[in-house]
Order: sequence, then C-alpha cells, then structure tokens
Amino acid sequence: MAKKHLGQNFLYDPSILNRIIQVAQLHGEDLVVEIGPGTGRLTKMLAEKVKKVVAIELDDKLFAKLKIELADYQNVELIHGDALNYSYENLPQFKVVSNIPYYITTPIIFRLLKARKNIESMTLTIQKEVAERITAKPGGKDYGVLSLMVQYYAKPKLEFIIPKGAFRPVPKVDSAVVHIKILERTSVSVKDEELFFRVIKTAFSQRRKMLSNSLKKIQEDVKEKLVELGIDPNRRPETLSIQEFARLSDMLKRD
Ligand code: SAM
Repeated sequence: MAKKHLGQNFLYDPSILNRIIQVAQLHGEDLVVEIGPGTGRLTKMLAEKVKKVVAIELDDKLFAKLKIELADYQNVELIHGDALNYSYENLPQFKVVSNIPYYITTPIIFRLLKARKNIESMTLTIQKEVAERITAKPGGKDYGVLSLMVQYYAKPKLEFIIPKGAFRPVPKVDSAVVHIKILERTSVSVKDEELFFRVIKTAFSQRRKMLSNSLKKIQEDVKEKLVELGIDPNRRPETLSIQEFARLSDMLKRD
C-alpha cells in the first residue's frame, strides 16, 4: 500500500524511465544521487548506466525491500533517511536523477541548490506547475521567486510532460521532467546576494503592487532609484528580468 503522505506515486513504464535517463545525459564514470528510489525500478536502470548510484529512501518498508531487490547491484549505495538532511557536500561531483516526493519539492530543490558546488545537473520529475514556475520567463503568472532563484544558479529546461495516469497510484496532477544544469558562474553577478534575494522576495510578496510601493520596505526612496535605473516604478515584479533585479539590488546596495 503506497503512503500518500510520503508522496509515493510510482512510475513503471520503462519507456518513460528510459526518456528520463536520456534527458540526464549519463556517462559510465558518473555518480548519481537518486532521492526516493521507491520500488527501485529507476535505480536499477541508473546502476546499469553509471559508475555508482547513491539512493536515499525514507520509508522503512520500501528500504527493507530495496535492500533485497538491489542486493546484486554492487554499485548502489542505499541510504536509509531523509533526503533533506543528507550531507551532499561530502560527495564528489554528482548528478541528481529523481522522481521527487512532491510534498517536499521546493525544499529539496533549495537544499540541492545549496550543495550546487558538487552538482553538475539535476533531472527531476516534479509537478507540472512547479516545472512551469521554475522555467518561466518574465511576464507571466508562473514567473516568481522560484524561477529567479533557480535561474540565478542554473539553466532549467522543461523536457517533457508525464500524464498523471502514468503513475501508480494516480496523483491529482500531471508531472514534468525538468533538466536543471548548474552554471559554473551565476547567471548575473550581484554585489550582495542576500540583498538580491531580499529584493526579489519582497517584490513578489505583494505581486500585484507596483515596485515603488512594495520595495519601500527595503528603501524609502526606491522610486527615485528605479527612475535613475530607467525602470518604470509602476511596473509589477513579474515584468522584471533577472538582470533588472540584479541592477536594482546593486543600486540599493550603493547607498
Ligand atoms: N523513484 C520511484 C519511482 O519513480 O517510481 C518512487 C518515486 S515516489 C514519487 C517518491 C519516493 O520518495 C517514495 O519512495 C518515498 O517513500 C520517498 N520519500 C518520501 N520522502 C522522502 C524523504 N524525505 N527522503 C527520501 N525519500 C523520501
């Protein structure tokens, strides 16, 4: 019986699992981390492609079954625990390939971005609407904090959609596979990263407000700063590119 609270929706279709592996662009020398191996189907296919797989499963019962199921796979290291608490920083360079437990999609992505120095890419199966937010460009309703955080450190691409009927049990929403390539250098350079993220979060905390109003919290005279930068203070946050957010936060840092 699948545990709903642990986000257990399993993928069985080998053609979909193969497409995921293709998207991940794996090589014989790769180390792959899989979060939530579940029944171990994807894990086995990964183990046949790469040098080593580290698979982290939280569920006691699944973990016990996986130990038996994967006993012959010498290059799979099974970890029993919470993927949010794993020390990714202690691993050499790796790729992530995972059908993420959906109840922790965003925390997992932020946890992995924190460990980005050791990560080459992440191929993640996630809710379609989260994939759309991650890859969104300025101007639409999907564009926001998550898009900017990911696109600051990485280049995300929505690769393909997996209809909900492909999972067992069938979840409420469709999924998508995203490939997130970690950049060697951040997509824009800023003087103060913390301020950059604070400006973004503050701007989007009141999405429908004009920048000159929402960003007053950070600096009273933000309206003049926006004008000085050639950014119309009446614009709303979802219209600003990452470059414009970078210029704005650098301008606010100046004073
Ligand atoms: N990889 C399998 C597949 O594609 O069929 C299972 C994917 S299922 C969406 C998510 C898996 O993550 C489940 O096996 C679940 O038990 C496991 N899981 C849930 N929370 C976890 C956590 N915090 N850390 C590690 N694994 C977790």
